[in-house]
Amino acid sequence: MDIRAPRGVRDILPDESWKWAYVLDVTAKTMADFGYAEVHLPVFEQTELFSRGVGDTTDIVEKEMYTFLDRGGRSVTLRPEATAGMVRAALEHGLCVHGASAKLWCQGPMFRYERPQKGRYRQFCQLDAECLGLPGPVADVEIIALSAEIFRRLGLKNLEVVLNSVGCPNCRPGYRQALVDYFTSKKEGLCETCIGRLDRNPLRVLDCKLPDCGAIADAAPAVYEHLCGECTSHFEEVKAGLTRLGFVYKLDKRLVRGLDYYTRTAYEILSGDLGAQNAVCGGGRYDNLSESIGGPHLPGVGFAGGIDRIVMVMEQQGASFGERPQPAVCVVAQSEAARGASQVLTHRLRREGFAVEQDAGDSSRWARSFRAQMKSAGGSGAAWVCIIGDEELASGSVAVKNMNTGDQVVVPDAEVTRTIQTATSEV
Ligand code: AMP
Repeated sequence: MDIRAPRGVRDILPDESWKWAYVLDVTAKTMADFGYAEVHLPVFEQTELFSRGVGDTTDIVEKEMYTFLDRGGRSVTLRPEATAGMVRAALEHGLCVHGASAKLWCQGPMFRYERPQKGRYRQFCQLDAECLGLPGPVADVEIIALSAEIFRRLGLKNLEVVLNSVGCPNCRPGYRQALVDYFTSKKEGLCETCIGRLDRNPLRVLDCKLPDCGAIADAAPAVYEHLCGECTSHFEEVKAGLTRLGFVYKLDKRLVRGLDYYTRTAYEILSGDLGAQNAVCGGGRYDNLSESIGGPHLPGVGFAGGIDRIVMVMEQQGASFGERPQPAVCVVAQSEAARGASQVLTHRLRREGFAVEQDAGDSSRWARSFRAQMKSAGGSGAAWVCIIGDEELASGSVAVKNMNTGDQVVVPDAEVTRTIQTATSEV
């Protein structure tokens, strides 16, 4: 077959998918413990949501969006991130009217036409939490603590919280000008992209990954001297709050992140075990996003974590994913005649809540020999095998084999559950 998955996207197969389920379980529990309610959002939105919300001059909007006309001629875009959609949904459904706040989370695929590499895909999965309606630094600290707590519960090690403030519309023009002045004086050392960014979005020059631009950006004016009084005190309170909770963080004046909507707090959590794509999560405050998409003033703070990368780091660090789901019982038909009875037993045990595997072949195709069935039952991890052969069929009984001890007893069909449960509770 020459049809393959498109470049930059991948299949998450059974050997990995159970790990994702574990990460999502831990995430859901942690979100609930922090008072965040799950929502399910569409994976495509009107293109305007992202061009206005994320920002026209960002890499995402300029060159990474999957945008197309639908059959009705409307421009739609596969979501490149979740925050804009979350704010859109909260506004559309009046979740934050009359000063109410909302703590929401979601997870699912995001789409960006990026250059694929390890840890960077064109479809990737994010978990995303947004706290809407609360302008104070307590919410910023809670969001950072929430993301860190998910990673702590997942057993991730060697992480670093990196923090910055990107100011607000009051103080950013002054800082922007200071950057333009500085970078213009160093223009000959900057890459083409950064020269292009100078006028349109000089803050983005700060996070250029090229070494020459990086060296120039390292010596650029820091935002801290330009923050207005309110942004300074917000930033100080966020730092104090993190310290109060025992978090160690590093300040990085070059952390501006690739989305225009951030105001004040910007942060990332980096893994020492990821190489170039080392961020497991990123987030911050976006007090003007709602207005930029035509809504009322609605402050917000949130984060998004990449599940692909989280699983990758956990694998590398040998973290636990809990137990891989496996059947408790395998039902084996020893003869063709016993197949009907084994199906009925399988169905009954499943309805009683057991995880049960059976050989689902039939006499015409696929039916496997008794030996082959026993072999795969042995390899399945099931603690019990229920065997029905001609003799059991005739007497309405089942041979129940304990795979841990090797003991086998023949019991009436109606006694199978009790036999398993009694033996299990004796262990
Ligand atoms: P961002 O929305 O760019 O702030 O990304 C938030 C998190 O999503 C990052 O810290 C990564 O863990 C993950 N992420 C972003 N882009 C990708 C990608 N192309 N492939 C895999 N994970 C990604």
